[in-house]
Amino acid sequence: MNPLSAHSILQVWERGQGQHLVNKALTLLAATCPEMTQNELAELSVGQRDALLIDLREQTFGTKLNVFAKCPQCQGHIEFATDVANIRVMNDSVAKEVELSVEDLNLRFRLLNSSDLASVVNCNDVTIARNLLVQRCVLQANRDGIALSSRELPGEIIDKLVVRLAECDPQSEVLFNLVCPSCDHNWQMIFDIVSFFWTEISTQVKRLLREVHTLALAYGWREVDILSMSTVRRQFYLEMVS
Ligand SMILES: [Zn+2]
Repeated sequence: MNPLSAHSILQVWERGQGQHLVNKALTLLAATCPEMTQNELAELSVGQRDALLIDLREQTFGTKLNVFAKCPQCQGHIEFATDVANIRVMNDSVAKEVELSVEDLNLRFRLLNSSDLASVVNCNDVTIARNLLVQRCVLQANRDGIALSSRELPGEIIDKLVVRLAECDPQSEVLFNLVCPSCDHNWQMIFDIVSFFWTEISTQVKRLLREVHTLALAYGWREVDILSMSTVRRQFYLEMVS
């Protein structure tokens, strides 16, 4: 996988304006996996998608991550550094379909993908969204051999299914155990590579556009030429004009 060039970072950022995070993730992947169709990308499991995004992030910005969190108890801000190795889950084989049996109930389900997430992106009710996702991912359900609709599944089975979905696609849920230095509260924070990476891209875009502005004013160069320069060369010119 190649890193995103300065030009690609600007293109991806521009395309992603107005998109929700699920589509921003697909826009990022489309830029780095041109051999895959939009449908193929959308059908990757959420964990497979995130594994690719972690690789792309590492190639583009390196292995170090500066993570920000907010304590849910005292609202204090926490910042800590970590490494991509701590958010990467090694999981070579992601099963296409998985079975779950609880007493006399048998389910066959597939893992959640970006199309599933996109279908509930405007749903503000967590329970409704969860039920919609269950209906999409349950392929077959039966009790004692008699077919059951996914709408008829009891709540405790849905709870077990949600746990199995995360277990079968471990890269889809990265958790950090945090302790607040101000109030000692400890909690688990979900780390979302999509919003993390997108925030970094937005920051990088602002830096790049400022650099283009400065060099274009000073030398009259075109945006495309300034962006094609290596970072080292661009920084050298920026120092000359500052
Ligand atoms: Zn706190």
